[in-house]
Amino acid sequence: MHEIARWVGAARRIVALTGAGISTESGIPDFRGPNGVWTKNPGAERLASLHHYMSDPELRVRAWQTRLHHPARSAHPNPAHEALVRLEKMGKLDTLITQNIDGLHLGAGTSPQRLIEIHGNMRQVVCTSCGERGPMEAALERVRTGEADPPCEGCGGILKSTTISFGQSLVPGDLERAKRAAKGCDLFLAIGTSLTVYPVAYLPRLALRAGARLVIFNAEPTTADSIADARVEAPLGTSLPQLIVLLQAEVSAVS
Ligand code: NAD
Repeated sequence: MHEIARWVGAARRIVALTGAGISTESGIPDFRGPNGVWTKNPGAERLASLHHYMSDPELRVRAWQTRLHHPARSAHPNPAHEALVRLEKMGKLDTLITQNIDGLHLGAGTSPQRLIEIHGNMRQVVCTSCGERGPMEAALERVRTGEADPPCEGCGGILKSTTISFGQSLVPGDLERAKRAAKGCDLFLAIGTSLTVYPVAYLPRLALRAGARLVIFNAEPTTADSIADARVEAPLGTSLPQLIVLLQAEVSAVS
């Protein structure tokens, strides 16, 4: 970890990519970890598929219930989210790309202009027919008062959350920004992600190809382990705050 802190101290432009693993210590299960939603219930994968969502009304009813009771609705940021805010405040974080939809980076205080929520978020709903957007909370209130699968109030189309489902394209502007950040950094931190969801999993490779170092913070193997410069396998709520402590020591030793 000392060497990683030295790399962070010396880097001119750092990009971090986070995944579901950074939020497990806030009580939100990941998909593929030992207690992951899909590890425990492989059928749950259908809920994240746009094709199944659009074609199966019963699945949509289940999806609304999942949104209503989603752990992210009551979760709080943990020390790992806070460590990334500290990194930003120290002037060491150029861009934070998150695959998470839980809003916890914003909740911790990450600047919105430095954050790319590349798989969307749960704050809004969008009509899949007319594109009209509205607040998630208003849609959930309709579910609470008896509409099991509330349609768009404008055109009657199917509503879904503004998250990117499997089978759905990313927002082109977000993907372009993320690629540009990866190509322009000299240190790429992949944090709490198995790096199995594409095209995001390609970002560390773009950074490496442009000459950056890659450090992976993840409790279990990822698809990029063999090309990483270093790996830290500890729980993120411990390892990221520890990195900040070492970095602060590094900075005060230099000044
Ligand atoms: P993933 O489930 O594939 O991988 C998460 C990784 O994090 C696993 O390898 C696991 O071992 C590791 N991990 C879990 N807790 C950890 C901890 N405390 N310390 C260190 N490592 C830990 O998740 P992914 O790569 O992000 O891909 C899944 C997709 O589903 C992404 O789009 C993701 O954002 C989305 N998702 C989001 C949330 C959320 O918003 N919190 C939750 C579940 C899934």
